Parts: sequence; C-alpha cells; structure tokens
Amino acid sequence: MSALYDEIDIADCAWDAAARAFTYPCPCGDRFAIALDELLGGEDIAGCPSCSLRIRVLFDEASLERAVAAGEAAAAAAAAAAAAAAAAAAEGARGA
Ligand SMILES: [Zn+2]
Repeated sequence: MSALYDEIDIADCAWDAAARAFTYPCPCGDRFAIALDELLGGEDIAGCPSCSLRIRVLFDEASLERAVAAGEAAAAAAAAAAAAAAAAAAEGARGA
C-alpha cells in the first residue's frame, strides 16, 4: 500500500460527464480519476493511470449529489439555463 498523495474534497474535483467520473490534476501531468459508481459503492481512493500516486476523495452523500449536480449543470449549461428560464416562466404564470 503506497501512501496517499493528498486528500481532496469532492467539490474541488472536476466532473467528467462523458466518463461519469471525477478527476483531479496529478503532479505528474495526468489526472487522478474515480468513477461515480465507485464513489456510490463506498470507494474513496482515486488512482492516477500514469503514476503510482493516489488521493482520497472526501465526500458524503449530500456533497456527492451536489458535486454531480454542479458538474452536470456545467456540462449542459445551455439546457440548464433553458430549464431555469422555463421554470421561471412557469413561476411567473402561477403568480399572475
Ligand atoms: Zn500521476
């Protein structure tokens, strides 16, 4: 078991919508990566595919949900903005 390089909050990790995984820059130039499924399964160690370093991802159920939601929102910003506009319009219609 090699030592952990660092402990990183899930909020500081980047969401890869295509891979459905969180990534974080590794000092070697590659990126640590851990899949959402692994996090949901209780795994919290993200390895770098190019070197032996590993990090522990700090998260709980709520922060994981927030991080995924934030990542999905960023990945589909236009759709999110459209949905928000539609929601605002609906809100306005109800208020009228
Ligand atoms: Zn690395």
